[in-house]
Amino acid sequence: MNKQIYFDNNATTKCDEEVLNAMLPFLKEDYGNPSSIYEFGKDVKEKITLARKHVAKLLNANEKEIIFTSCASESNVTAIMNAVKNNPNKKHIITTSVEHASILETMKYLEEIGYTVTYLSVDDRGRIDLEELKKSINDDTLLIAIMMANNEIGNIYPIKEIGEIAKKNNITFHCDAVQAIGKIPIDVKEMKVDTLSMSGHKIHTPKGIGILYVRDGLPYVPLIFGHQENNRRGGTENVPYIIGIGKVAEMILEDNYEINKNLKYLRDKLEKEVKENIEDVMIYGDLDNRLPNTSSIAFKGVKSEELLLVLESFGICVSTGSACNSMIAEPSHVLKACHADLENYSPIRISLGKYNTEEEVDIFVKNLITVVNMLRRLNKNEK
Ligand code: PLP
Repeated sequence: MNKQIYFDNNATTKCDEEVLNAMLPFLKEDYGNPSSIYEFGKDVKEKITLARKHVAKLLNANEKEIIFTSCASESNVTAIMNAVKNNPNKKHIITTSVEHASILETMKYLEEIGYTVTYLSVDDRGRIDLEELKKSINDDTLLIAIMMANNEIGNIYPIKEIGEIAKKNNITFHCDAVQAIGKIPIDVKEMKVDTLSMSGHKIHTPKGIGILYVRDGLPYVPLIFGHQENNRRGGTENVPYIIGIGKVAEMILEDNYEINKNLKYLRDKLEKEVKENIEDVMIYGDLDNRLPNTSSIAFKGVKSEELLLVLESFGICVSTGSACNSMIAEPSHVLKACHADLENYSPIRISLGKYNTEEEVDIFVKNLITVVNMLRRLNKNEK
């Protein structure tokens, strides 16, 4: 059995050892409830305060603007529903056609109950047009919800410019920053976002912790009522995981995004060698403005599902799109929105992480060349 090569870090990441060690005491001896008034609980509360401080610093936010949630999906839905509740007389929302399912499914529900949603189109490289955004705004628009970076093709969207447009028109702006966190510096003030979501498991905590940033002064109605999180998110705090995401925020700040140089080096090397050794390769997305770790890459005539399965037999994990959609045979909504020629060029998504090495990239490229050539030969013989 080959050693596993995990190239699917946009789906989820391995928990960092340092993060796990920071969490462990709170799963063992420090199990107090932070709401208790005795020291055993109060000590835990202090640790939560510290974690909140680190997350706030990572986003250039104030501590009171940070709400701990269970995941980014919860953060996204909470932010959208909050905008809806705050604007009872307005019924129009603008988003893009390439958002994550947690945004798009919420939009679908809102359409069912009478809201109108404009889905901004993207060009063949997955880019949005800010003129289309400006033209879509009307007196009824209550929210603009646009992601910072796309999970499938890695595109980075012009969030600062969008924030300015939203502010100028007095419209709430929500940003799903799940894939950007840890890869691009984020400054909520500079970006002029009202709400922003992030997820722990994409940046090396275990699954089950998210963040919702809510700008100070923005009226806020919880999705889950209760006294925790300053009355903004009920439910006894998930203490170990909060400690974990606080630790990650601290580590990202310490590293100061140095890791991205290596990710970009590995991704660029991988793409270069693939293009040099395999004919008819297509790389999707905005090649000049992408996450440093992501490559959406297709090989003419090779079906991504087949490629994925054969690569898996070599111990290599990649995906055909977003993890949430990978069990659905439907082609990716992101690539469909890019008018991709999926019949001929169906892509696999490679997303690197901090534990990947140059040796793994070399093994991957070697195996990929063999597999693509083999599948192309088989397909030719079948015809
Ligand atoms: N938004 C984006 C862009 C994502 O990629 C994901 C996860 O794949 C989410 C939101 C949802 O995150 P979570 O798994 O924490 O709910």
